[in-house]
Amino acid sequence: MTDRIKEIDARVMSACSDSFKRIDEISQYCTEKVLNAFSAERISEAHLHGSTGYGYTDTGRDALDRVYARAFECEDALVRPQIISGTHALTVALFGMLRTGDCMLSVTGSPYDTLYDVVGINDGVGSLREYGIGYREIPFLNGDFDRVRIKKELEDKSIRLIFIQKSKGYLDRKTLSSRQIGEITEFVKALRPDVYVMVDNCYGEFCEKHEPVYYGADLMVGSLIKNAGGGLAKTGGYLAGTHECVERCSYRLTCPGIGRESAATGGYLADFFQGFFMAPHTAAQALKTAVYCAGVFESLGYGVNPKPHEKRYDIIQTVALGSPERLIAFCRGIQAGAPVDSFALPEPGDMAGYADKVIMAAGAFVQGASIELSADGPLRPPYTVFMQGALTFESGRLGVMRALKNILESDNKA
Ligand SMILES: *Cc1c(COP(=O)(O)O)cnc(C)c1O
Repeated sequence: MTDRIKEIDARVMSACSDSFKRIDEISQYCTEKVLNAFSAERISEAHLHGSTGYGYTDTGRDALDRVYARAFECEDALVRPQIISGTHALTVALFGMLRTGDCMLSVTGSPYDTLYDVVGINDGVGSLREYGIGYREIPFLNGDFDRVRIKKELEDKSIRLIFIQKSKGYLDRKTLSSRQIGEITEFVKALRPDVYVMVDNCYGEFCEKHEPVYYGADLMVGSLIKNAGGGLAKTGGYLAGTHECVERCSYRLTCPGIGRESAATGGYLADFFQGFFMAPHTAAQALKTAVYCAGVFESLGYGVNPKPHEKRYDIIQTVALGSPERLIAFCRGIQAGAPVDSFALPEPGDMAGYADKVIMAAGAFVQGASIELSADGPLRPPYTVFMQGALTFESGRLGVMRALKNILESDNKA
């Protein structure tokens, strides 16, 4: 590392200490919640082994559901290796909750890209739309809900579910706090107690002391190869919330009549338990990496979101890099800092559903796991990179330093 990079690193490290302290406090609090859940459910070695075939009376699986529910402070949860991704968990929830003639209303603007086919905004085969389920959205403006329009839409009795995406995802907006989600839930329930509030909680777990369901959301959903799996889960997803909602969704995940009674857990349970135990700590590592990245690039004059000292409600950090060369340099730096595939050289490429080329960097132990350090961005102004993850802050810090080094070199060449 050059003297310039060492100097930036030292300065940013000392400037980050207050934010780090806050992150440690949240991690400590959430670890206690998780540990208490393990203890209350009397988790023992026998719970870690998993089942085969139909997986009837899989006591480990059922205990893991209860551990999640306790730690997330809600009534019930469903945690399964049969849930293949975050998108699948969201799909199970939407199809579980909605029926023909119902309509869902997204109050945080467009949902995550992969949901376009699920909802039927695109012509996805098997979409909600094909089943006669409607979709409407209200833009999320200036970091707040459009209560006037939400109230107006709720006069339509076909609205059965309010959809909220906690994380900004790939949008240029603020990530919501669990409390903000609770406030809008209260607003909705006062007008329409019969409407469900569902949260896409991907990237949000353990970034705050409490999750959206603690503040009243009916259901939240996430992926185990993001925060909740703690970096150890090799696949899987979860749904958590009220008993009624989780139960309904269980009949969609498996079959009507069978629901949660069947599902073999194979060899996955030990990682699921240990990963959940690690998850508050792992999320803290990713959060610190994000804060550090924000500090480094803000100090060089780049636009960063969130700012280094802002409170954080997910693990995503964006940096507006201002040129395609810097975006590519950043991603190549992150790739070079990965433990797996460090030698690979990311190239911008076409991706289904995107108008512009996209560049992605990830060198993960678990394929596509974005709780591990990763970065990506579309090649269009302002050339914003989305960076998230890092299993350890030490490695995350090194990855960001590599990205910085690449950018400084790229600027020198220009
Ligand atoms: C990652 C993500 C998803 C989809 O999860 P996959 O596991 O990639 O299918 C949905 N919503 C948000 C906000 C996400 O970050």
